[in-house]
Amino acid sequence: MGYDPGGTEVRFVVIGAGMAGILSAIKLREAGFSDITVYEKADRLGGTWRENTYPGISCDVPSHLYTYTFAPNPEWSHTFAPGPEILAYFEAVARRHGVDRLIRYGQEVCRLDHDGTRWRVTTSTGEQDAADVVIAATGVLHHPRYPDIDGLDEFAGRVFHSARWDHSVPLAGARLGVIGTGSSAVQITGAVTDVVAEFFLFQRTPQWILPVDNPPIPEADRARYRADPSALTALRTELNAGFIQSFANAVVDADSAALKKLENAARANLEDSVTDPGLREKLRPDYRAGCKRLIISANFYQAIQRPNAHLITEPIERVEPEGVRTADGVLHRLDVLVLATGFQVDRFLRPMQVRGRAGVCLDEMWTPRPYAYLSVSVPDFPNLFMLNGPNGPVGNFSLIDVAEAQFGYLIQLIELLARGRYSQISASHHATSRFEAERVEAARKTVWVTGCRSWYLDDRGVPVAWPWSFTRFQEAMARPDLADYELI
Ligand code: NAP
Repeated sequence: MGYDPGGTEVRFVVIGAGMAGILSAIKLREAGFSDITVYEKADRLGGTWRENTYPGISCDVPSHLYTYTFAPNPEWSHTFAPGPEILAYFEAVARRHGVDRLIRYGQEVCRLDHDGTRWRVTTSTGEQDAADVVIAATGVLHHPRYPDIDGLDEFAGRVFHSARWDHSVPLAGARLGVIGTGSSAVQITGAVTDVVAEFFLFQRTPQWILPVDNPPIPEADRARYRADPSALTALRTELNAGFIQSFANAVVDADSAALKKLENAARANLEDSVTDPGLREKLRPDYRAGCKRLIISANFYQAIQRPNAHLITEPIERVEPEGVRTADGVLHRLDVLVLATGFQVDRFLRPMQVRGRAGVCLDEMWTPRPYAYLSVSVPDFPNLFMLNGPNGPVGNFSLIDVAEAQFGYLIQLIELLARGRYSQISASHHATSRFEAERVEAARKTVWVTGCRSWYLDDRGVPVAWPWSFTRFQEAMARPDLADYELI
């Protein structure tokens, strides 16, 4: 693979300097391309790891697996390293590969217009650019979802979303409330209950939680990884196999033995960890483990059992200046209120205005919901490729592996453009409809549709995720089937 000097020079615009955007820039350079600009709306790279700085943040994929295959990191401090360490990793990799110099910071792409030949790119500062190929690496869990709760604006204390943590607000001695019980809220709970005076967790739905050990990685192990990179590769391979077998493939087969095992482990964790029977029943979900994204935590149950921690299960009635009033009439007085209420997961590329061939509008095409062929390409949007796009493997795999596999697929299409075989490549309408119909059908067998509310489900109740095994995903990403594309 590589850029053929006799072919056509290709100009690339990559949108977003998070994990997938950095990956794209590195891999494009590796393939011999040099005319690349990465547009980043913020003043720093890192995507979700830049945005999410709440106390307790870490990744629930083991760090040695949540690394690029081409940039193993012997220095991880813990099996599940904290968020700032992950951010520092992405910054270091970008620097080492020289792609930090390709990033234009403070430039939010707000328009993409296909002029029949190329993409015209407009940023929010009014700058114009042009590209033959646009790679959208804009992230999935990116736009905070704010709850529609009466009186939220009237709260006299400080209120912010978990992905917009306000570090100027002191926690020591505060009466802190958190709305939500997703991964973010669980991690926050584990980190703050011994700092604040009183802690209130407003739970609408309990979660299944798997126990996990997260001791520091001893220096002796790190030294061994430093000295012997093959040990690191072997560790990654082992973690990957375990993750896929015990988790990723389990959730797409609601009847699998692996899923039963996960369910038993989560149930045993609840029984063994929570001593008060009343609290235990409040924390017991009434849906199957894995239906919502499974949460792992080393300290949530301990934290919520502290004397200063209160699990509030009465529905929230309204927010008042002094705190949160629940349906039983009780006012929970608060100084700080955190909205750990998740993300708008259908906002791919949006609020960008994207107009493809003959002015077709992506926003209209994606109403009521986004879709894409294999989650990487959309009909009538030639040479616009997505990493971690709509309905990809968001919930059950490491997103780094997903992005690497998708890039490996896309570079094969890009090579066809670079060699001048074609000038425009986009998925065909027929292949996209076929893929979407198969995906929706397969989703019926997943645990995600067994009776719970979650961000995996779209407005029809269909999971917005790849519903097959990881092996099938790898096979699909191995080589593009050009019969599924419109090639000009
Ligand atoms: P989330 O899983 O979508 O959870 C949102 C929570 O807010 C839910 O408990 C939800 O309750 C609650 N909620 C929403 N609106 C509410 C309202 N009006 N009143 C009361 N409760 C309300 O969001 P998240 O915790 O930010 O996690 C999102 C995803 O980010 C995760 O699934 C995961 O993929 C990723 N994540 C990963 C990590 C990691 O370690 N890798 C860490 C954080 C996040 P219901 O359950 O009743 O809807």
